[in-house]
Order: sequence, then structure tokens, then C-alpha cells
Amino acid sequence: MTREVVWDHGVSLPEHRLWLDPLVVRTFAFISHAHTDHARRHKEALLTPQTLALIPESRRPRGWRMLGYHETMRRGQASVTLHPAGHMLGSAQLLFEHHGTTLLYTGDIKLRQPGGAPPTFVPRADVLILETTYGRPHFRFGDPDSTVEAIATWCRRALDSRVTPVLLCHALGKTEEMMLALAPYGFSFALEKRCAPCAREYANAGRPLPDWVELDADSPGGRVVIAPPSGKDEVRRLGRYRTALVSGWAKDAEFARLFGADATFDLSDHCDFDELMEVVERSGADQVYTVHGYTADFARHLRKKGIRASALEATEQLALAL
Ligand SMILES: [Zn+2]
Repeated sequence: MTREVVWDHGVSLPEHRLWLDPLVVRTFAFISHAHTDHARRHKEALLTPQTLALIPESRRPRGWRMLGYHETMRRGQASVTLHPAGHMLGSAQLLFEHHGTTLLYTGDIKLRQPGGAPPTFVPRADVLILETTYGRPHFRFGDPDSTVEAIATWCRRALDSRVTPVLLCHALGKTEEMMLALAPYGFSFALEKRCAPCAREYANAGRPLPDWVELDADSPGGRVVIAPPSGKDEVRRLGRYRTALVSGWAKDAEFARLFGADATFDLSDHCDFDELMEVVERSGADQVYTVHGYTADFARHLRKKGIRASALEATEQLALAL
């Protein structure tokens, strides 16, 4: 395999006509997970059964090839294997092998998992394409179990003083993982209307959730409310409530202020800076390409450590600047 990897509204291995999370419709594309920034109506998509189940009908690819975790698919002379990425239900890393050379595309990835689950496995590869959403060193998140514990305490205190605790979480993935992480503490939930369809899809895709109802602004009735961080109209009708932003962006003071939350918790479904370094180390790659977020910053940190690294998206930004 030549090691040619290019960026053109998504990552591509041109020799193999394989696109990885492209932003425009392609003939054959891997969709790493169900977040809207990744799912497009490709002619044929490669994805996990859970990811397919989480993509609404209107945004589904026209054709698909489902592949489970640890299953291998031939593609010409090459092979493709999917591994869990720990980012959300169905999220997958793609390991590509051709003539003894291996390439790992992480998609959105999270190493440390709450609830005593083992950290996400990173396959070894010669070339690594890594998402670097939090690729700056001030993004260092606390231990997920301790953070979940702190969130549970915060919710309990609010409920005890007859104030509704409102957790601001992304509707798909984050909301459901938050519910599952808090389930052992015995909470029940009321979900804002944008979170409710996602919770239904999560359950349909094979991950049952703890007790929840759709938020009725009059009476959340001792439940923990979960709502997306943007547009708090429904939340404002709650009367006495307190909000907490649950996101890696909690580590960015300016960003956290923007959301005007009463509290912040740095629980993320992405790797922090140290986890990103760990992914690189564990992969053993001698060539790293970065995509998403602080791509140039993280590539520079890697080069300082003597690892060949460059930001893929920077190429496009440069092209756009011309
Ligand atoms: Zn994502």
C-alpha cells in the first residue's frame, strides 16, 4: 500500500476508492458513528448495525454493508476490520490492511470508560488517522467515575432542596450514556423533546435505558432533566432549576461561559489531550494524520516528540484561503 491519504471534505484512500466519514455524498464510504456531522446519503456505506439503527430514515445511505465489531471484510486486495471506538453506541475504528501495511482510522474515539468498563482497545498500525477534537494540552479531563459521582451528588443536592437539576448534554449519545452512568444512583429522568427521539432510537438499537419520560415543563416530578446545551426555552419554564454543562468544553472557560450554566463537569465522549497521546503510543504508528478540532496544534505536539505528523484538514483550509 502506498501511504497516500488525502483530505477532500473527508479522508480518502484514493487507491482503494474508500472514503472515511466524507462530508459529501460518495460511492463507498465508512460512517464511523451516527452523529449528524458524519452520516450522509452515500451510494453505499460501511457501518455497524447499531450505527445504521441510530441514523434516522431520512438521512440513511442509499445502500449499506453492515459489519460487526472484530469482523473483517475484503476490499480488493485489502481487508477492513472494525473495532469499538468507545465514543457512543455503534461507534467504530476502522483498521485497513494492504500488503502488510496497516492504517487505523479512529473516527470519534474515547479511551476511558465509566462504570468499571475496560478502556477502548487501540489496534497497532503503521499509519494513524486520529480525531483531535481536544488536541490542546489544557483539555485534561478528570477520571470518568469520579466525575459521574460528582454529577450524581450535584443532582441529589438539587432534588433534596426541591430544585430541578438540568444536565446539558448532546441529544444523541451523550444523553443516553449519561442516563446509563447515573442509573446505579437510582435517578429517573425527564428528557427535553430533542433528546426523546434519540433515547427511543438508542433503546431500539439494543441499549435499554433507565426509566424516563418526555419533559413536561409543569412537573418534572423529582426527575433529573436532560436537555441539549443550545436553546433552553423548555428549561426556562421549569421554575426552580439549576443547570450543569456536561462536556469536554467545560475545560475551556470562555466556551463554558457561553452556555451560562450554573456548573460544569468535564465528562466527555472524546479523548482528552493525554488520551490522544496514549492512542498514538498504543497504535505504534510512525505516521499520524490529524482531523477535527485542534489538528495543527496536536500535530505540532507530536512532531516535538519526534513523530511524523500533519493535519489533514489544514490542507483544505489552505486551499480555501487561496
Ligand atoms: Zn461524534
